[in-house]
Amino acid sequence: MARSAPGKAHREGITLMQLADMFPDEKAAREWFESQIWPEGRHCPRCGSKRTHEASHAKSPYRCTDCRSYFSVKTGTALEGSKVPLRKWVFAIYLEVTSLKGVSSMKLHRDLGVTQKTAWFMLHRLREAWAEDKAEPFDGPVEVDETYMGGLERNKHARDKLRLGRGGIGKTIVAGVRDRATKRVAAEVVPDTTRLTLGSFVSAHAMPDAMVYTDESASYSGLPRRESVLTSTVDSRK
Ligand SMILES: [Zn+2]
Repeated sequence: MARSAPGKAHREGITLMQLADMFPDEKAAREWFESQIWPEGRHCPRCGSKRTHEASHAKSPYRCTDCRSYFSVKTGTALEGSKVPLRKWVFAIYLEVTSLKGVSSMKLHRDLGVTQKTAWFMLHRLREAWAEDKAEPFDGPVEVDETYMGGLERNKHARDKLRLGRGGIGKTIVAGVRDRATKRVAAEVVPDTTRLTLGSFVSAHAMPDAMVYTDESASYSGLPRRESVLTSTVDSRK
């Protein structure tokens, strides 16, 4: 579903009124999601088999004849595990993609009649799903940074210590890139923070002409597209 959503700059499209007509009830929303997820017919998200049938299971209305697993249109998607009605997801997606700077969880909370916590969760899931969609690189400007995750070397048991020095040694490095306009983010584990590694990470997620903002880490100083230096990254949503 995310893949067919119109881009932010694309201002044509259906109106909120048309959307309400298209999705009068939960059944219409489910059928729309199914047509998006399974354009060539329903198949099992676990084994791929097309031999499936309806089942009398409340949350997972279909069953695979081959691997015998129960599933729904949400299984294996960003909506998995969510109790939010599909119709509310439709409206959340609409509000997010039609809002130039992305919709706030407060607005979603008010417009959809869900708690703000639920609204935050929905936006998080959607943005995560879009960030994974590499087919649509960020237009920028983008902000890039890196985070070290994992335990401190000095807290490890002697036999697990890497004895390689200080700082990030022995931790997992996660590089992150965030599009300022859309607030979409992408993150991935990187082997190191060399110019080459971080440069290719940025290239994989942002358009070649996207303006890149970074912190003052030395690793970035040679990034070919570096345009500016940020001393701090401010996220207005926090
Ligand atoms: Zn199966």
